[in-house]
Amino acid sequence: MNRRGLLIILSSPSGAGKSTLARRLREWDPSIIFSVSATTRAPRPGEVDGEDYHFMSEANFKRAVNNGEMLEHAHVFGNFYGSPKGPVRDAIIGGKDVLFDVDWQGAQQMTNSELALHTLSIFLLPPSIAELKRRLEMRGQDGADVIDRRMQKSWDEISHWGSYDFVLVNEDLDATEKRLKSIVTAARLRRTQQPQLLDHVRRLQAEFEEGEE
Ligand code: ADP
Repeated sequence: MNRRGLLIILSSPSGAGKSTLARRLREWDPSIIFSVSATTRAPRPGEVDGEDYHFMSEANFKRAVNNGEMLEHAHVFGNFYGSPKGPVRDAIIGGKDVLFDVDWQGAQQMTNSELALHTLSIFLLPPSIAELKRRLEMRGQDGADVIDRRMQKSWDEISHWGSYDFVLVNEDLDATEKRLKSIVTAARLRRTQQPQLLDHVRRLQAEFEEGEE
């Protein structure tokens, strides 16, 4: 038997540093798996099925939801997105951690799922709203209208910070990275993550009883 993997849930308003910190966490420990989402939206040029997303028809997606095969799912701008449960369950049982970049609704569904015992939820707050906007602009990925839309949604996301296990203010990136690694290191040692220790404790018990004779 091995340890159980964690479902590491990272949420934040867009621009607070989720992708950056997720990348650093994976560089630190390449055995951490990024969950590949399923989606009903069409692939964009260059996107690879099974790597960027599992592309699915709407009928298949809805069937998967009805059969309880999605850990969490959401409807965003006319398309469905979700995390297929099977691969996550296999990873957890195999002792591999899976990282999820989901919003508060996804996080809530996961912490209410049958895998709730193994979730570790972390929320990233920006140091200020002005800095959040600055980071979205610095990233250079979105036009002004998309940045406005992201900024408008940011409070909806931030207002749910209270339902997470851990909260980090991502001011200095290196400091946040360090804290994030500490949190993951500690959560891996939760008793519920370590069923393999039963064998160890049984061995200790046998040794103890031998000494008593
Ligand atoms: P998200 O995935 O949450 O939308 P990103 O990881 O893309 O956010 O970060 C948004 C931008 O802010 C990126 O350009 C990133 O390099 C930068 N960034 C992330 N964390 C920090 C930080 N602590 N200090 C300064 N810039 C940061």
